[in-house]
Amino acid sequence: MSIPATSGSSFPSTPVSVSPSGSSNHSSGAYAPRIVIAGAGPAAQALVAKLDQAQFGGSITVLSNRDDAPDSLLELAVLPQVSVRFGQPATHIDPEARRVITEGGLDVGYDQLVIATGSAPMQTPIEGAERSLGYSTIDDAAAIGEAVKEATRILGRRPLGILVGTGAAAGQAEAVLRARGVRPVRTTARPTAVVPSLAGSPLPASGIRFEDGSTMLGDLVVLAEDRLPHDSLAESAGLETAPEGGIMIGHDFRTAVPGIWAIGDAAAFDGVRLGLLVAADSAAGACAAHLMGVPSRELPAAA
Ligand SMILES: Cc1cc2nc3c(=O)[nH]c(=O)nc-3n(C[C@H](O)[C@H](O)[C@H](O)COP(=O)(O)OP(=O)(O)OC[C@H]3O[C@@H](n4cnc5c(N)ncnc54)[C@H](O)[C@@H]3O)c2cc1C
Repeated sequence: MSIPATSGSSFPSTPVSVSPSGSSNHSSGAYAPRIVIAGAGPAAQALVAKLDQAQFGGSITVLSNRDDAPDSLLELAVLPQVSVRFGQPATHIDPEARRVITEGGLDVGYDQLVIATGSAPMQTPIEGAERSLGYSTIDDAAAIGEAVKEATRILGRRPLGILVGTGAAAGQAEAVLRARGVRPVRTTARPTAVVPSLAGSPLPASGIRFEDGSTMLGDLVVLAEDRLPHDSLAESAGLETAPEGGIMIGHDFRTAVPGIWAIGDAAAFDGVRLGLLVAADSAAGACAAHLMGVPSRELPAAA
């Protein structure tokens, strides 16, 4: 999927060039830039994989804010040109010096920086939220399926589902529930509490309560509130963000600041968050092609 070109865009579209610092790796005169990726989720991983498939000759440093890593990331971490730094959230960008600084004080120089810091559910406390099911990662879809199965077994009928949320996440959660035979009652009003079930019931929740004291009863509560982009890195680099969040990019995934790109849920095109427009994998493939300075169609398909 390609993103439409921005008319009158202020985003530069010049080819990737050697760092002004002149500190790129050069061997036999070949251009071997240093790419740093802030974030290590699906978008970052897809970008590393695409660059590897395209035989990118420079170095790739991935900054992950987490200490753990899924197998998919560990497989990429062993590639010779890839270095993954765990537990190193990127906190500051110096776009003039082309350096990224992490919370732990790591200072990494880059020729091209790709921000792939993703998104997170809105952090708003709802009393007793632990009695509900969340919908904030791809694994949650499986957890909802299991919960429906278990509730059906306990009740001897399909559970009555309550779905809280607006936007794309709630739409996806509804599709997940319906695929498992549950037609949820959907509310866009935020409850203040998830009500526990009566003593003796093996189900954790019996409904939700709103601010005015009114309740909505059900056997299974799913909170599927929209996600917010992790775009706090934008400020230090002087990057523009969309009103609804997300780092503003042009049609080629560049930001308005030379040498800085954004992909995945952290990016926004024309005010719309990229995660809603184009899958992280597609964005990574197109971005890799631009980074390599070749058209997308010349990159091999993802494995
Ligand atoms: C339930 C659910 C189901 C979905 N199903 C699909 C699907 O079927 N197909 C599909 O295409 N999409 C699906 N999506 C959307 C998809 O999961 C996201 O678009 C995708 O995860 C975005 O990847 P990302 O790497 O941009 O962001 P994220 O997955 O959010 O990853 C970003 C990573 O960066 C890390 N990070 C954050 N800040 C920093 C920092 N400052 N420094 C370093 N690291 C940082 C985070 O901890 C995280 O590990 C689904 C989403 C949900 C919630």
